[in-house]
Formats: sequence, structure tokens, C-alpha cells
Amino acid sequence: MDDFYVRYGDELLQGLPCRSSLDGILDTLRARGAGLVPTVAAGAMPGGVVERRAYETFKQAILDQAHDVDGACLYLHGAMRASPEPGRRAEGLDYADNDLVRDLRARLGPGVPITLALDMHANIVAEMVGNVDAMVAYHTAPHVDAYETGGRAAEMLLWILEGGKRPAMGFAKAPFLLPGEMAQTALDPMASMMALVDELEQRPEVLSASLANGHCWADVPDIGVSAVVVTTGDAALAQAEADRLAATFWQRRAEFGVSAEAYPMAEAVEKARTAGESTVFLSDSGDNPGAGGTTDVPELLAELFAQDAQSVVFASIWDVEAVEACAAAGVGQDVTVSIGGKLDTFHGTSLEVTGRVRLLTDGQDYKGGVRQPRGRAQTGPIAVLNMDGVDIILSSTRLSFEDPAQLRCLGLEPLDYRIVVLKRGYLTAPFQAISQRSILAFSPGATNCRVADMAFRRVNRPIYPLDLDTTWTPIRIIGNE
Ligand SMILES: [Zn+2]
Repeated sequence: MDDFYVRYGDELLQGLPCRSSLDGILDTLRARGAGLVPTVAAGAMPGGVVERRAYETFKQAILDQAHDVDGACLYLHGAMRASPEPGRRAEGLDYADNDLVRDLRARLGPGVPITLALDMHANIVAEMVGNVDAMVAYHTAPHVDAYETGGRAAEMLLWILEGGKRPAMGFAKAPFLLPGEMAQTALDPMASMMALVDELEQRPEVLSASLANGHCWADVPDIGVSAVVVTTGDAALAQAEADRLAATFWQRRAEFGVSAEAYPMAEAVEKARTAGESTVFLSDSGDNPGAGGTTDVPELLAELFAQDAQSVVFASIWDVEAVEACAAAGVGQDVTVSIGGKLDTFHGTSLEVTGRVRLLTDGQDYKGGVRQPRGRAQTGPIAVLNMDGVDIILSSTRLSFEDPAQLRCLGLEPLDYRIVVLKRGYLTAPFQAISQRSILAFSPGATNCRVADMAFRRVNRPIYPLDLDTTWTPIRIIGNE
């Protein structure tokens, strides 16, 4: 519960500090004079399974308002899992977003329309499609259309309310475990898949079309690449086009690889170290907090030391104890700390380093002006430890570095370094804008892009690429009239 930032009521109606889907929903509905009933906005850095108590609290805040309304429009990420109920040994919720819309539908009844805006990495299941009237997922990765997607979900709700008609939805899902890093929308083959989506959306009878690649590391049984097509009422057309999108995706499955320059970890460090460019961005992709990595796997950092890399900033390692040790020593002092390898003990082990504390902050620097990670008010204390030419950012909360401003407000200029290590997959748009060259390292961690190397236990088999000979053809899964 403490990991979430939460907004209720009027605070929610003020929107978020970034152009989020919530803002898109609010602006679109307001522009048409709709009266708004706020429920709850809750978000956290992804990381494992949501504690059931937190999930139920947020769900209840939505259900409590689900009466005497004409419609509901929600933004959900779409890949949330929740733990079993306290004291019960039963399974948790593998598709918590589906559980939420199922209960919302039960509360509102069949006559009240529900539309959804979703992240492109949603794990959509057939029942969820059946429980809502329309949905649309982001069309971009890296995501730069969150606001527009929220607006489109709200537009579809208004279309239903103003026209008195219900849309039809088609849904198809290909058994493909696809890391987000392999599906950047500006690069092929994903770019040409999204061109098909755009083409479809030009048709007057199509309200929206989406491809949701899923969150492969969730390790839930029903996982894959989903195609959802919403039409103005033609169910056969919606299903045929969803089938066609999913089938095309499936036919091209072998073409989906990491589109960035990518190497095994040691080779990636070597390439970055010997690069001719003045600055190279190196992605520690196996431990990406934005995808649920623990942010405490120090293996790539150890490799940098092993290769004696110089002029490096490493963003970042989550380690409260190490931050406290640096704070206790003070700026300019030498300190020996054991960093990382404390939560994720499976993919890495703690690294003992002796360095000099270069900087300490209480995390308040992130307030105002700078885009904050997921709207969080503050990051908590941060320390920068310098050792042998490497500046290691140590944080007391899990940080996702999405904008160079986050480094600059620590007084660290990314372009002054030869190598900028980011715990993430592909670079976000603001980093891409200043990057001459980026290299992705296949590093160990909970978000390893080489899914064949991961210990999946629960995904339905066969699934590509764990089972390379998987066969699949689209079948009619759902068509809600
Ligand atoms: Zn996403």
C-alpha cells in the first residue's frame, strides 16, 4: 500500500503532473460538458504482485461510486496481478484488471457502458473484453500517446451515450511471449503492424483497433499478443479484423528481435567501452524497474569494474542500507558498502565496493519542474558513490530513469560521461533525443529479454518462442453484439 501514490476526489480531477491517460479522459469528457464522478487514481512502480489489501481498497473506491452514472471510463495498465486474500491459500488474481471490470459490470448492470484505455503491455483476457463495451490500448512504444489514448476511450464512451448504440468488439490472441523491447513502434516489424492498425482505424465503421503485446514476465497462464477491434456495431467485421491482425502478427513472429543494438552483457560493456561516440547509453535490460525488475541486480556494474570502464554513471541501484551508510559517512568521505543483491538474490549477488561519497540528497530535488517518476512526490534519499571512475547512483526507492532531467537535477550531466547505464530496456523518448548511440545489454534479472533463458512456470504451453514449433490459427474467441 505504501508503494502507491493515490489520489481521490477533487485531487484526482486535477489530473496528474504528466500528460496521462487520466488527463486525456478528463479533458475529453469535460469538453463535452459531462459531469464527472471521480473514483481513485493509484499507481506504483511495477514490481511483483500487488498486495491484496491494497488492490481491494482501490477496487472498492471505484465500486462505491458505481451507481447513478450514465457510463464509466477507466484507465488501467492491464497487467496487474494481486496476491491471494489474507489467510487463504487460494490462488491470487492473475488478471486483476479483469476482476475489477467484472465486479464493476456486475455493479453497474448491462445497460451502463464501460470503456477502457489500456497500456500496450496489457495482458488482455477474453472475459475482460466481454465485460466492457470498448477498449483502446496505446499505439506507441516507447509510450508517447497516453493522453490521446485516454481521450479515445472517453470519445468511445461519448459515442455510445450520444448515439444510443453499442459497439461490437473482436478479440484474438496469439500464443507469443513478446518482451516490449522487441516491439518498438517506430521500428519494423512493429512499425508495419501499427501501420495496419492505423489503416483499419481510417475505416468509418471502426472506432478503434489495438495490438497489446502483453507483459510477458508476469508468468500468468493466459498470455500472448492480443488484437482488439471495436466497430460501430458489425460484430463479424470486428472479429474478422482482429483475427487478421493477430494472424499477421503471428506470421511475422520470427522477425521480432531486439531492434536496438544488443549483445550479451560482457560484450555490450566491451562495445560501450570502446565506442567512438562521446557518450553511449547502455541499457541494463534484465533489471528494468519500469517492467517490474527489482533494480538491485548489480551484475552489470560488476562487469564494468571487471573491464575497468571509466567515466561511467550508473543509474541506479535500489539499496536503502547503502544509501544510509553513505549518509552516515558524509559527502567527501570514503565508505565501504555492499550494494544490491538483497531482494533479487536469484539473478545476482551483493557487490562490495569502497568509494567516495560524491553527493547526498533527500530526494526533494525532484519536486517541481521535472517530470517525476509516475507522479511520485519525492524519491527519498539518494547517494552518489564514486569508485574507480564510476558514479553509482544509490536510491532508497526503486527509480526508473526516464528523462535526462532526473540526472541533471542531481547535478550529473549525462553527456559528460562516456557511458550512461540505465536500468531499462529501450530508451524513453527524452533520452533518445540526446542519444548518439544506445546499446542494450542482455543482463540477468526479472525482466530478461531472452525469455527462453527465464524460468517460466505458469504460462500455458505450447507458446512461442519457448516452444519453437508452436502452431496457431485464429479462432473465434468472442464477439459481443
Ligand atoms: Zn507499457
